[in-house]
Amino acid sequence: MLLADVVETSKRVAETTRRIEKIDVLAALLRRIEGEEIETVVAWLSGGTRQGRIGIGYAVLRDAAAPPALLARLEVADVDRALDDFAALEGRGSEGRKRELLHSLFARATEPEQRFLTGLLAGELRQGALEGIMLEALAKASCVSAERIRRAVMLAGEMAGVARAVLEHGAEGLAQYDVRLFRPVQPMLAQTAEDVAGALRDLGKAAFEFKFDGARVQVHRSGDDVVVFSRSLNNVTAAVPEIVQAVRALPAKDLIIDGEVLSLTPEGRPQPFQVTMRRFGRKLDVDRIRAELPLTPFWFDLLYLDGQSVIDEPQERRFSALREISPGQNLAPYLVTDNPDDAVSFLREALERGHEGLMAKAAGSAYAAGARGQSWLKIKPARALDLVVLAAEWGHGRRRGWLSNLHLGARDVEKGGFAMLGKTFKGLTDEMLAWQTERLLALELARDEYTVYVRPELVAEIVFNEIQVSPRYPSGLALRFARVKRYRQDKSAADSDTFQTVQKLAGMSS
Ligand code: AMP
Repeated sequence: MLLADVVETSKRVAETTRRIEKIDVLAALLRRIEGEEIETVVAWLSGGTRQGRIGIGYAVLRDAAAPPALLARLEVADVDRALDDFAALEGRGSEGRKRELLHSLFARATEPEQRFLTGLLAGELRQGALEGIMLEALAKASCVSAERIRRAVMLAGEMAGVARAVLEHGAEGLAQYDVRLFRPVQPMLAQTAEDVAGALRDLGKAAFEFKFDGARVQVHRSGDDVVVFSRSLNNVTAAVPEIVQAVRALPAKDLIIDGEVLSLTPEGRPQPFQVTMRRFGRKLDVDRIRAELPLTPFWFDLLYLDGQSVIDEPQERRFSALREISPGQNLAPYLVTDNPDDAVSFLREALERGHEGLMAKAAGSAYAAGARGQSWLKIKPARALDLVVLAAEWGHGRRRGWLSNLHLGARDVEKGGFAMLGKTFKGLTDEMLAWQTERLLALELARDEYTVYVRPELVAEIVFNEIQVSPRYPSGLALRFARVKRYRQDKSAADSDTFQTVQKLAGMSS
């Protein structure tokens, strides 16, 4: 198929606001493609590429500009091959090669094709709604229900391969994506809640469980055959014989069980994450390390039981089935409540027993494989860092005339300067706003329309819930739910926390 056909479809989809028409236009294209092309085109029209994240910045795309071709002769497969080559380039000198490759691709594209490729490669075509529309279009083109396809996409963790299977083989093609013993399922993931009250606001009544800081495992069992998969779905069975034994002892014929394993001290407190992870190192003397660091499983979910997938059952039903087969000491402690005080006491108990915090789960939710959805929320206690104010933005509304949103940085003792970690205007009282405006203006270095940049001297104690890996700042890290606790007038920038400390905390918090 010609790239021009895809570009034309993309244009028509963008031009109409009617959902049904978008679906029709896409379905018509889907009926015309076959083989590998299906995967390529479906990925593009849902806003991505078959090669995954290519991450081409605007500067590189600008450099790649070329006079447009007059005739539309590029095939879908030509572009896909160029993207394969592009994704394979790395290391020294690859930047130049990348630019050349893109330039020659652009030189073969007509003007509308160039526009499409720019949007695609800059990640601009990526819109949440597109995936939903693509699902409906696939259903229409294949005569298989959208629900059935959505499930397969969730279990596969991607859409393009599922699209090919359903277009080529119909509903039968999707059987390979059902939950099956010994084929690991993408684990369900969690979002972050600010605190217990926030989780209850989002979920209403919630099932709270201890959040353990160990290693996620998904164990498949049929009779005496047991396979243990890690969070990244590697087979780690050989490293954890006591987990294999524990699962063999459960009163069930076959099952898939989800949980966290960790090493406890002789007093029953959790070892730090890194210590538990020693059980998963390479080239281990398993018997020796097992004697030193025995693992205890804490189960929190069940995906399959006695011949059937249960992932579509509500969380509370899955958990009560789990409770029937798991010994109490291997079950995640849990509490179902809508009372914030009870949930806060439960959090305190988890922390006192050395665990990381709580998970709050929507009692009615299915197991959303691979998804970081709203049905599981993690709650970790707030932590604090002393950070330096690098700049501040003028406030709006009630805060007009005051410097409000603070840019926060940590001292980088390796590279020099400060690594930006986030912005916040939360936690500031009126007195603090007035005080900081005066102090920051005295430290002014430069300004633009919104922001005053200052000498990095003021230190503030910043409370936050989590350090995230994030492309937002060059530091690669960002604070979640940051708020100002107080100014540390007793500290100078030289006494503030370093970026290296933050990196260490980030490593420990994952
Ligand atoms: P995070 O990796 O911070 O996004 O948190 C999600 C991870 O917490 C899961 O992948 C599990 O490894 C771990 N975890 C610990 N306790 C629980 C629990 N009770 N329920 C679900 N996940 C848990």
